[in-house]
Amino acid sequence: MLDYLIVGLGLAGISACEALEQNGHSFHVIADGKKMASTVAGGIYNPVVLKRFKAVWKGDTFLDHALPFYRHLEKKLDAKFLEESTVKRRFASIEEQNRWFEAATKPDLKRFLSSDILQNANNALIAPYGLGNVLDTGRVDVPNLIKAYQGYLDQQGKYSLEIFKVSKLKISPDAIRYGNLEAKTIIWALGHRQAAFSYFDHIPLVGNKGELIIIKAPELKLSSLIKGPVFILPIEKDFYKVGATYDRSDRSYESTSEARKLLCEQLETMISCPYEIVQQEAGIRPTVPDRRPLLGRHPQFNNLVLYNGLGSRGVLMAPWLGRHLWEYLEEGKDLIPDLDIKRFEKRYQPV
Ligand SMILES: Cc1cc2nc3c(=O)[nH]c(=O)nc-3n(C[C@H](O)[C@H](O)[C@H](O)COP(=O)(O)OP(=O)(O)OC[C@H]3O[C@@H](n4cnc5c(N)ncnc54)[C@H](O)[C@@H]3O)c2cc1C
Repeated sequence: MLDYLIVGLGLAGISACEALEQNGHSFHVIADGKKMASTVAGGIYNPVVLKRFKAVWKGDTFLDHALPFYRHLEKKLDAKFLEESTVKRRFASIEEQNRWFEAATKPDLKRFLSSDILQNANNALIAPYGLGNVLDTGRVDVPNLIKAYQGYLDQQGKYSLEIFKVSKLKISPDAIRYGNLEAKTIIWALGHRQAAFSYFDHIPLVGNKGELIIIKAPELKLSSLIKGPVFILPIEKDFYKVGATYDRSDRSYESTSEARKLLCEQLETMISCPYEIVQQEAGIRPTVPDRRPLLGRHPQFNNLVLYNGLGSRGVLMAPWLGRHLWEYLEEGKDLIPDLDIKRFEKRYQPV
């Protein structure tokens, strides 16, 4: 009998595995590696809401866990995927500059917002009002992390690449069974596709589709991420990810011409050099209306656990959340009420 069965190996699944492994639990992972947000993500971690110059909820706590977590994984997996750098916020007006200066003096933002305004020296970048430097930010190459983690689990026989079918799941008070696997507890870390399964119907996991394009722009010569109406993220020489859109009405994983048009329009307010679109990608962020993640046990089946709702900040939040979930499951600590799925329990109808 395993301690845990985890379904899903995106950022949520990986952080759950890490907390379990560090504490000596046995586990197995099932994931199909398809239609997942984590492999589409820009991979940026940034504890500031750059649209409104506000601190992300618990952003400094998340960040203080995220960096050691990814550094540790780089060593363990013998792979490179963490890029610690700065994000540059392009100002659209003098008013925005002024709001930035004001925000930079606030106690929760001081650590992250540099009060120096950088003048733009790049002819291909349109930034007449300069740029603000966001410190302690960076990027995780999430697709590479996931690939390396899958390989790591596979080597130990702890990973099954397959579609999880809820019809094969048998839950009894002392164990859960799935095919030949038997575990004390199952953790669902399925991202937006969890909506296809009925057990957590009472949880409002609404989803928010995001699309981005990858461009080739040899004259652009950016070395760090620029955030304006869209982000422009250097990924390799001459190639950039540009995104992302937000759409709550479309739940398909298809790329659309509307999103491509919008991204190009926004990009062209930021750059003046030629570019070529080489790829377009789409994913669905697992979002919740109250913008808080989802952790906790099913109201009726104690050994069915939910880990979801990472929304648009999975890279930053997952390392701390995985640890917090483990403390709840194994050390009997309370979940922070804002994260606990008990907040939706009134909506639950017993099956
Ligand atoms: C365009 C875009 C850009 C983004 N940019 C950023 C960014 O820059 N920074 C950031 O922090 N976040 C970003 N995000 C958000 C980020 O992607 C999410 O917060 C995070 O990836 C969610 O991780 P997850 O593990 O919960 O879900 P997912 O990554 O969706 O993983 C779900 C897992 O469940 C598995 N699964 C689902 N259904 C089944 C099934 N039936 N059988 C077997 N396996 C199944 C999948 O294979 C996968 O392994 C972005 C999202 C999008 C769409």
